[in-house]
Formats: sequence, structure tokens, C-alpha cells
Amino acid sequence: RQVVFSGIQPTGVPHLGNYLGALRQWVKLQDEAAPESTLLYSVVDLHAITVAQDPARLRQWRKEMFASLIAVGLDPKRSIIFCQSAVPAHSELMWILSCTASMGYLSRMTQWKSKLALPDNASPLDESSKAKLRLGLFSYPVLQAADVLVHRATHVPVGEDQSQHLEFARNCANAFNHTSGKVLVPPETILSPAKRVMSLTQPHLKMSKSHENPKSRILISDSRDEIAKKIKSALTDSIDGITYDPQQRPGVSNLIEILAHLDDTEVRSCHEVAHDYKDLSMRAFKDKVADSIDEHLSSIRVRYETIMHDSNTHWLSEMNEEGSRRARASADATIALVRDAIGL
Ligand code: ATP
Ligand code: MG
Repeated sequence: RQVVFSGIQPTGVPHLGNYLGALRQWVKLQDEAAPESTLLYSVVDLHAITVAQDPARLRQWRKEMFASLIAVGLDPKRSIIFCQSAVPAHSELMWILSCTASMGYLSRMTQWKSKLALPDNASPLDESSKAKLRLGLFSYPVLQAADVLVHRATHVPVGEDQSQHLEFARNCANAFNHTSGKVLVPPETILSPAKRVMSLTQPHLKMSKSHENPKSRILISDSRDEIAKKIKSALTDSIDGITYDPQQRPGVSNLIEILAHLDDTEVRSCHEVAHDYKDLSMRAFKDKVADSIDEHLSSIRVRYETIMHDSNTHWLSEMNEEGSRRARASADATIALVRDAIGL
């Protein structure tokens, strides 16, 4: 039986990278899944607090994320949409997995280093870096492994930045099963074709919700005007014509990839897309990209605004409660087996 799980942090309104790399895939899986399969999509607020958060803002972001998930097309009748912190079993399994997780393995993960702006190489941390490093930020791949394993998910649709963490989750499952019997399920990663959308202002970095520069990302709630402005200011180059060359022309190539991936019905290579526009000026090409983004996001934006401006959002909290109830049932069933297997 297929069980799909994935999560997104309530750290702002989702951007084009979240949409093309993850959310659109979530909806596709929902719409194409066999009737007996289970789909769980979580707003992972316990992950969001690995960096300092203002409580009121975190509450608002959580609401915006639920509104976003509905706006992109998730259906709470079909998918279990829930808040991670409403399901304590995620944290309980994290603790159990922590007791066997390897510090060495975790310290090789790149994400906490990038959040601390530390170099990626394997050099040992000096004392001042260690003092800044929070235990939660260091160990959050273990929570992420627990998120997936506690529902015995078989498939996890994510962007490429999460591949390393899922490899870790599979290792956790295999290690647990090796010593305690076949209880957990090592999950398969599903990467969408648009697995890594790059920042508009620093095209060597991935587009991120939490990057300080709002011009680096297009939000699913951005107006036509905001989209046009951000694309216009996107970092490109002064080479004549449009060609696809991620090494030499990362900025333009990112825009070409966005254009190619927006239209997922038409699977064309980035070189083909670039060829269609080869003689355009950068300015005209950017107009084309902005138009295409607007065309694809406008109905999502309208649904998002309608939900956020609705004076009665009681249904949103009811949906959350119902989702959390169903997610608790799924997670508690696994935790009972895990406890039994290790003698608790
Ligand atoms: P933050 O900066 O707070 O970490 P984020 O933009 O990285 O935010 P997450 O909530 O961490 O978003 O990730 C949600 C999902 O979106 C994950 O599956 C992740 O792999 C995917 N994702 C994030 N950024 C991109 C991107 N630039 N391209 C493709 N997929 C992405
Ligand atoms: Mg992230």
C-alpha cells in the first residue's frame, strides 16, 4: 500500500521553487493516487523553530501555509493535511531514533552548516562556531526522519536539497529494523523534474523562503506587477542572445528552467526552450518569463487571497483539527509497534 508523506516549514508564503519542486508534485500524487493509498502533508512547525521565531508571526505563517496548501489544490477530504506539532508521536520517535543516530553522520550533513553560514568542507568546528550551533538545528534531520518513518511512508516527494536527509531517514529505518525487527519502512524519494529552482538574485543558491532578500524569490501570492519587477531585477549577464548554459550563464539558465518546468505537460529540454527565444533581448525574454509565471500562478493567487481575506476561517482550523486527528491515528499505530519492539 502506498503511503505518501511530505512536509513544508511555515517560514513564509511558498515560492516558485516550493511550488515546482514540491507542492505541484503533492497535488499530482493526490490526484493520481490509487484510492487505497494514504497521503499525508504536514506543516512542520517544529522544524521552523530550529531558528528563532516570533510567536505571533509563526502563528500567522502557519495560517498562510494552510491557505497556500488549499490554494495550490490539495483537498483535505483526500489528503491528510496537518500540523506537525499536533502529533506528539513525531517528537517521540525522534527521541528514540536519536538514541542510535550517529553524530558523525549528522555532522556531515550540509544544511545546518549553510544555515550557520559555515564552510561545507569537513574541517572540525572551532569553539565559537560550536557555541553558536544549536542542538535542534544539528539534529533536525532526525526529526525529519521521524516525520516520515512514523507514518511508515513509502514515498516522499521533495526538492533536491532534501535528498541527503532522506538517505539518512532510510539509514535510520534500516538500522532500527536490523536490531529490533521489521517495523519501519525505508522510504523512496520522489524528485520532481524541477528539483532545484535557483535564487533570482544569487543564482548559485537555491530559492528559499527564509533568505533575507525578498527579491530572490517569487511567491505564489505575488501580483503580476511584483512578478514582473522581480524578474526584471533578476541577476543575468550581458552576453547577446538567449542560450542554456548553467555553468557560464547561471541566471539566464535558471529563467529558462523555470519556463521549461512551468509547462509540465510539454516536456521539452531547456536547450529546446532556449532555442525558441535565442534572438530575443534579455529584456524581452524576461517579459516572456514574467508573463508565463503570472499565467501559471494567477488562479492560485486568487484562491490564496480569497482564503486569507475570508472573515470566517473557522473551516481552516476545523480542517487542521480533523487532519491532526487522522495523522495521530496513523502515527500512534507505528509508535505502538516501535515501543513494543524496543521493550518500552
Ligand atoms: P526555508 O528557507 O525556511 O528552509 P525553503 O524554501 O527551503 O524554506 P522548505 O519548507 O524547507 O522550504 O521545503 C519545502 C519543500 O520545498 C521541500 O520539499 C524542499 O525540498 C522544496 N524546495 C525548497 N526550495 C526549493 C527550490 N529552490 N527548488 C525546488 N524545491 C525546493
Ligand atoms: Mg528549506
